[in-house]
Amino acid sequence: MTNRMHNFNAGPAALPAEVLRKAAAELEDYNGTGMSIMEHSHRGESYETVHYEAIATAKRLLGISDAYDILLLQGGASLQFAMVPYNLLAQGKKANYILTGSWSEKAKKEADHLGETYSGASGKDNHYSRVPDFDTIRTDATDAYIHLTSNNTIYGTAWQDFTRVSEWEAPVIADMSSDIFSRPLPVENFDLIYAGAQKNIGPSGVTLVIISKTLLEKTAAIAGDVPAILRYRTHAEKTSLYNTPPTFAVYMLKNTLQWIEANGGLQAMDARNREKAGRLYDAIDESDGFYRGHAHPSSRSNMNVTFTLPTEELTERFLEGAKNKGFSGLNGHRSVGGCRASIYNAVPLESCEALRDFMVAFQKKHQ
Ligand code: PMP
Repeated sequence: MTNRMHNFNAGPAALPAEVLRKAAAELEDYNGTGMSIMEHSHRGESYETVHYEAIATAKRLLGISDAYDILLLQGGASLQFAMVPYNLLAQGKKANYILTGSWSEKAKKEADHLGETYSGASGKDNHYSRVPDFDTIRTDATDAYIHLTSNNTIYGTAWQDFTRVSEWEAPVIADMSSDIFSRPLPVENFDLIYAGAQKNIGPSGVTLVIISKTLLEKTAAIAGDVPAILRYRTHAEKTSLYNTPPTFAVYMLKNTLQWIEANGGLQAMDARNREKAGRLYDAIDESDGFYRGHAHPSSRSNMNVTFTLPTEELTERFLEGAKNKGFSGLNGHRSVGGCRASIYNAVPLESCEALRDFMVAFQKKHQ
């Protein structure tokens, strides 16, 4: 494909060129059926094959056992902020939200509408520059659940390791919207994981939910009065075909997951993502303070690299210059400003190297 930008968008974000080409080739005539996959019934064989392959590929990549169900839902991660408490926050219990950024705050706020919550740890005092040390996190066996955000898209921080999460006695729930399928993951340490697809695994419109069957059983007693569309059990019982799914988004999800598999799976994604992020963090660390990373080095995300320049004016010039060079999406989130390079799976190493070179040249010129 020609004229592809260096795409650092935070989500929706870069998709693999191979996946886009495949979609283009199959757009008018999917698999010799004389119509696109979008034009097929969601109850027909063509779409159902895509649907179940998407689920099977996700399971294979993450090594997920039959103790879990995978659901393909709509409404984005934001709907999960509500579905989680609707299904799991029983009366008389408290949900524990570990606050590591704006998205975890939003998740907690939504739960506050439905029941009691508290936060067993918060990074707000250090401007969300680091994920709390595990030993400082308060949890209780009676928590309705413990909710964490694995990668903080806006601040550029990430949990580095999930081993000790298994020590928690209450169900563990994670919003993994911005790093799922970017690295290996011990799914067995979690009871529910959710992620909007639009960063690492496809276009927007589909949300992946991984839920343990044990937790699903528990929701029966809590979510009895909740509208059917909002119950996890509704979707699990109908294998995510309760109502019309976002068929094209699921098709793209399937093809993106198969691209990950064909490119070495999660170990290979992790190695590549570390190398890519390393190029940008090196540029920050070697800049003598010209570029300042927001994240504490111990909490750095390999998905979103956030940094500032010495002045607002230089930041603006940097962003303007970057745009002229064909770099897209480097503005920091509107709530924090500065710069952010989102470098999900589909962003090639060459884009990170081109940005690194631009950063070095810009510093030389403006220091
Ligand atoms: N959680 C995280 C970590 C996110 O990055 C985002 C979106 N950027 C959301 C939740 C919200 O996702 P959605 O727009 O799919 O509702």
